[in-house]
Amino acid sequence: MDKTILLVEDEPGLLLTLSDRLRSEGYTVETASDGPSGLTEAATGKYDLIILDVMLPGKGGLDVCRDLRQQGNTTPILMLTARGQVVDRVLGLKLGADDYVTKPFDMLELLARLEALLRRPAQTVGPSASYQLGDFRVDFRSTTVWRDGKTLALSAREFQLLRYFIEHRGETLSREELLRNVWGYEAMPATRTVDVHVAWLRQKLEADPKRPRFILTVQGLGYRFAG
Ligand code: CA
Repeated sequence: MDKTILLVEDEPGLLLTLSDRLRSEGYTVETASDGPSGLTEAATGKYDLIILDVMLPGKGGLDVCRDLRQQGNTTPILMLTARGQVVDRVLGLKLGADDYVTKPFDMLELLARLEALLRRPAQTVGPSASYQLGDFRVDFRSTTVWRDGKTLALSAREFQLLRYFIEHRGETLSREELLRNVWGYEAMPATRTVDVHVAWLRQKLEADPKRPRFILTVQGLGYRFAG
């Protein structure tokens, strides 16, 4: 498959197990065990994906993530966060991470997540781009959404869903496709999850959520973003 992964992790045991497993899956793996060397290595730009631990000596994973994005580096980043660090996960996504898994993680889940990130097509909307439609505006870099000039409080998932809609505006998107690409794994049982998040997004974005102008229902098929 010829994909190169940078693994930044300071726990020697985990670094070893994880890099062995990734190599046995056919990936080329380079490692770094502190923040500054991880940042230097990642900035070479030769990686297809970066696995980044949050708690690192020298410079934390969140700072490394933010610095890379500020340098214009768009390599997909999968963060490793400790159990219960909700703040880190939300902040990580806000700072530009693409996904996260919580330690201790299931190896198969981690592999599925990183495969999903590696399959993702190159971003059609650049990290600094913004998007305007009707009375709402989205800034992808700062992950901020405004409606009528007021900031909307969107969860990280709602924002990812909105971004996916905008990137695929005009296309009919099935619930399964949305689950796979926004939630990042294939076997999630409840497609209703999508409906719930769409309803929340409509509440926030649409002037009349019962008669949506932007996120349209395509009967029997899924949703389409009119933009
Ligand atoms: Ca650590």
